[in-house]
Amino acid sequence: MKLKIVKGTRDLYGDDVKRFQYIEEKARQVFSVYGYQEIRTPIFEKTELFAHGVGEGTDIVGKEMFLLEDRRGRSMALRPEGTAQVVRSVITNNMMRQNNHLRFYYFGPMFRYEQPQKGRFRQFYQIGAEYFGVSTPDADLELILILRQFFKEIQLHEISFQLNTIGCQKSDCRPAYKNKLIEFLQDHVDSLCENCSNRMHDNPLRVLDCKNESCIAVTSEAPKIHDTVCSDCKDHFSELCHMLDDHQVSYSVNFRLVRGLDYYSKTVFEVFSDNLGAQNAAGGGGRYDGLFEIYGAKVVPAIGFALGLDRLALLTSPEKKEQKSVFVVGTDRGAVCKLVATCREEDIICQYDPFQSSMKSQFRQANKSGAWKVLILGEEELKAKQVSVKDMQDGQQTVVELSAVVGYLKKSVAN
Ligand SMILES: [Zn+2]
Ligand SMILES: [Zn+2]
Repeated sequence: MKLKIVKGTRDLYGDDVKRFQYIEEKARQVFSVYGYQEIRTPIFEKTELFAHGVGEGTDIVGKEMFLLEDRRGRSMALRPEGTAQVVRSVITNNMMRQNNHLRFYYFGPMFRYEQPQKGRFRQFYQIGAEYFGVSTPDADLELILILRQFFKEIQLHEISFQLNTIGCQKSDCRPAYKNKLIEFLQDHVDSLCENCSNRMHDNPLRVLDCKNESCIAVTSEAPKIHDTVCSDCKDHFSELCHMLDDHQVSYSVNFRLVRGLDYYSKTVFEVFSDNLGAQNAAGGGGRYDGLFEIYGAKVVPAIGFALGLDRLALLTSPEKKEQKSVFVVGTDRGAVCKLVATCREEDIICQYDPFQSSMKSQFRQANKSGAWKVLILGEEELKAKQVSVKDMQDGQQTVVELSAVVGYLKKSVAN
């Protein structure tokens, strides 16, 4: 059997894992300041959860889901995104019964069957946040401020937001706009790409974010959604824009921004980092006031975002924390192991040579490990119940009683 990793997946180790940990740590820190709690949901659910909530017509459900059949023939899906699941969890655990608002964040792997590219995997990682219960633009503002703070924390300072409103389900709002747009597109169907001419009736909004040049030319003349949405949606959006101005958030309104998922309503937004290039959003989200109702639950206004960790990790360089470690060398294996164990129990980072090589080779390894101090247990030291402590910076050697060495090291670390 020839071992090979599955296409579109990867192992994370070494510096990659350090970058992931760094980003997660900063995210946890920012989320907790804003009052968000972590939620952990399963990595698979019944397929219908996503089909129903995210929408059968979307790429991620229609084309990219990893489907499994369990032993009783039921269709399960590896999660392609996080929001539908968190909503499912809030509903099935009846969480809104005792709370009028809730805030959650999550980390974890997501799965989509798409063509792997640089920074894009079939198993990829997301950080997301969801805010339930608040219908006013305060909630929209909060999520954007979280993102701004998070990017600052991971040292990505050049970021900007794009936002848009995609209206609501009221008949005089998005449905009315869709009809207007379809009417317009029908007059220009010959100039649309094949994909767009096929989807313009079911999903006309997606034509707005098609990257095909000829589609872009056509849709730049198309009616704009801002001019059509209902007064409630219009007020929500302009209030949010005022708040963002007030908080000096740098953003622009992009009428092409529709996001691919069916559950969004009103505000949608994406965040861009200069380091990732103008084409690539680092993440995005939006309001989904209708999703609870789609699942047959009582209406709960909600908004959330998700960020792709894999690509963010390419841009970050975690600060190197200097950690002082010691290395024990010696001829008596039992004595070496005992001192190592004592140090570790006292939270002193401690290494030794598990192969019991010559003293010379042990010293070489101690050097290579970047140890701060080497603890030497030679025959003389053992007899006298002492340790020679060698400082690797200045080469100075001090003899310390074996029973006092931990105290000595702790005092030295503090200095
Ligand atoms: Zn509306
Ligand atoms: Zn197109």
